[in-house]
Amino acid sequence: MRTGDNPEKIKIGISACLLGHETRYNGQYKGDPFLVNALLPYFDLISICPEVEMGLSIPREPMRLVKTNPKEPPRLITKMTETDHTDKLEEWINTRLTQIDIDELDGYILKSGSPSCGTGSLDIFDTEGNISEKNGIGFFARALMNRFPSIPVEEDRRLHNDEVRENFIRQVLTKKDKRHINE
Ligand code: SF4
Repeated sequence: MRTGDNPEKIKIGISACLLGHETRYNGQYKGDPFLVNALLPYFDLISICPEVEMGLSIPREPMRLVKTNPKEPPRLITKMTETDHTDKLEEWINTRLTQIDIDELDGYILKSGSPSCGTGSLDIFDTEGNISEKNGIGFFARALMNRFPSIPVEEDRRLHNDEVRENFIRQVLTKKDKRHINE
């Protein structure tokens, strides 16, 4: 879903719920008025919700990162019924990310705290339901950053800090300038 298609605008990918789309597991509004009011007029936003686009419903059972094998990355498993969505999300990610053109994106804003979109510091649970690590990265966020390492990525809550926001915008403008040079 895009907010516009102006080639002069800065092109930013964004977690759909930050724009106010009620895509969260509980269907609740989690828009970020600051981001929307301050940045929307200048950015051409491409919103993506990995969990909904992969086919999960709204509302849906919440998920968390669970390490089922110490030698492998954590898996994405629902909290109550322990349904494992890892393979389905990985399949969707592999398809979806090949549809995104690196040259059309100047940055990405991700929702903090989400097992899909969070960029770090997420709780990782063991199979007994205890927190075993606190350095988890969301499934989609990790795949995005691995596939497009040159795209500036920030979390919503960090962008409320003036210094972080200015730094992010500087990186985004640099990326945009490079895109124009290559056009
Ligand atoms: S955090 Fe990510 S997966 Fe969760 S509702 Fe927002 S866009 Fe969808």
